[in-house]
Amino acid sequence: MTDSTTQHTNAMILNGKELSNQIKVEIAEQVKAIVDSGKRPPHLAAILVGEDGASKTYVKNKELACERVGFASTLLRLDASTSEEDLLQKIAEINANPDIDGLIVQLPLPKHISENKVTQAIDPTKDVDGFHDVNVGKLTKGEDTFISATPYGIIQLLDRYNIETSGKHCVVVGRSNIVGRPMSILMSRSDNPGNSTVTLCHSRTKNLGDFTRMADILIVALGRPEFVTGDMVKPGATVIDVGISRVDADNQRGYVLKGDVEYDSCAAVAGAITPVPGGVGPMTIIGLLQNTLKSYQLRNA
Ligand code: NDP
Repeated sequence: MTDSTTQHTNAMILNGKELSNQIKVEIAEQVKAIVDSGKRPPHLAAILVGEDGASKTYVKNKELACERVGFASTLLRLDASTSEEDLLQKIAEINANPDIDGLIVQLPLPKHISENKVTQAIDPTKDVDGFHDVNVGKLTKGEDTFISATPYGIIQLLDRYNIETSGKHCVVVGRSNIVGRPMSILMSRSDNPGNSTVTLCHSRTKNLGDFTRMADILIVALGRPEFVTGDMVKPGATVIDVGISRVDADNQRGYVLKGDVEYDSCAAVAGAITPVPGGVGPMTIIGLLQNTLKSYQLRNA
């Protein structure tokens, strides 16, 4: 095996936090121009059901991001015991509200509510998370749509950092509907970033390391902290770590955030790598903001 630590000790850090701040300034300029012309700003609504700690943090971050770029935002907090019917009714009300451009329902939902029913109840033209079947279908066909926020953020990260994807081998680990599968479709599309040869791995993949070691671009979204280690990475590869897990720690919060990638050993081998936190997470919010702006522009065209 290659002695990678002596070959690639200076992986470029793909700093999603910094890049997201830069893109927020760009979005804020567009919003300012809209408001200066006498029109209302884009408006994102979020529904949070229950008290899940991580979900509360994600929704709070989305609210803060809206504030930062000048969007209006509405947060509807519902009790964990809210019925599916009541939630669907709230979604219908927001669908019908002409002053709201985007609607997200923070997942996961309490067990008694069908995530699929909820996702499909959102008006596809306000589905800024890109989870509705109509938008997934368009993505699959390469049509213009709301690309789900995390894959959209990753695509922009690759683009802004000029990571060459055409003709490269991209290995995606994880086939969820919100990250892995759409990511694999985007990387194989005939566009830039894209045009990669894609391998999609999952829990039934045998000898996972044999595939990850072939990746020029390795995108990991499986939800198991520090699962991918340096010996699973090809020297010089671009490593995108989507995972965010709370791992118990002896600190004030009682936990630390870990990615799916063991950062130190992988950074020693990779050519470029995203940190956790500060990599894909902030770019996901950018995907969401851009989809909301796009929805606004489409309905005010
Ligand atoms: P899911 O649990 O929905 O999917 C996990 C995927 O990983 C599944 O396809 C599963 O395979 C696969 N998998 C599980 N174990 C293995 C294994 N041992 N080897 C290979 N594949 C495996 O997770 P999500 O896609 O929703 O999220 C993944 C991670 O990304 C989580 O940590 C989540 O918190 C994080 N996340 C981060 C976001 C961000 O903004 N940074 C946004 C969204 C998610 P199978 O299908 O066979 O079960």
